[in-house]
Amino acid sequence: MKPKKSLGQNFLTSTAALAKIIETADLRSGDAVLEIGPGKGALTEELLKTGAKVLAVEKDNELVFFLNEKFKKEVASKQLTLINGDILEINFEEKSFIKKDYKIIANIPYYITGQIIRKFLTGKQKPTKMVLLVQKEVAERIVAKNGKESILSLSVKAYGEPKYIIKVSRGSFFPVPKVNSAVLCIENIKEAFKNGEEKRFFEILHAGFGQKRKMILGNISDIFGGKESAKKALNKCGIDPKKRSEDIDLSGWKCLSNI
Ligand code: SAM
Repeated sequence: MKPKKSLGQNFLTSTAALAKIIETADLRSGDAVLEIGPGKGALTEELLKTGAKVLAVEKDNELVFFLNEKFKKEVASKQLTLINGDILEINFEEKSFIKKDYKIIANIPYYITGQIIRKFLTGKQKPTKMVLLVQKEVAERIVAKNGKESILSLSVKAYGEPKYIIKVSRGSFFPVPKVNSAVLCIENIKEAFKNGEEKRFFEILHAGFGQKRKMILGNISDIFGGKESAKKALNKCGIDPKKRSEDIDLSGWKCLSNI
């Protein structure tokens, strides 16, 4: 089987990286795990060793055929369920594949990182934890390693607590990708908003980051119906109107969206 670039197929070959993912996942026997893109099953094998029940979704039907052979025993005992499909198209709520608390542990295809994170953080059936191998720069942006927030970092922090675990160098994969990776963990994922709050939060966030160079006041004036009311809102939230959006933390954005 030739790795398919179009499906982001870079298979993990580092046992140290696999061990770190498993350690971070902190699994108990019987825990429910959703794995996205099992590939040739390197991570799947380690997940199964913990005694977890794994649901693995793989888009490449050749790989699903291979995995069914490789994990014949685990499939027969129902410790492993393999689904041939596109993770973004499966409606997990409708199909009720997942009936209890679950964790997502995966080396995901990088071309859909943002979509995967969005789908599972904003969906009704949120995982309790996500341990993902992602592009290093993406992990750094999500935890705001440089002290600068972004729509991406705030969107993740609204639902859980992201942690940068460890760098995984590009040589840890076959074929070797152009970029380095990192293990990202998002813990304590929760339902963060009540009715209507979610929509408002993202509206203000997108307005706030409309023009990055502008001060927060200029960016949110329209959404508050003018400069004066925007100033009042910022005052109420204890935010300096001259600040830039990237310097405002989650609690500031939540306060503004509540107003
Ligand atoms: N987990 C394996 C490993 O660590 O070696 C493979 C990781 S590889 C980076 C990503 C995997 O996701 C590939 O097996 C690819 O075929 C699969 N994939 C790509 N797009 C997908 C999608 N939309 N839904 C489900 N799986 C997908």
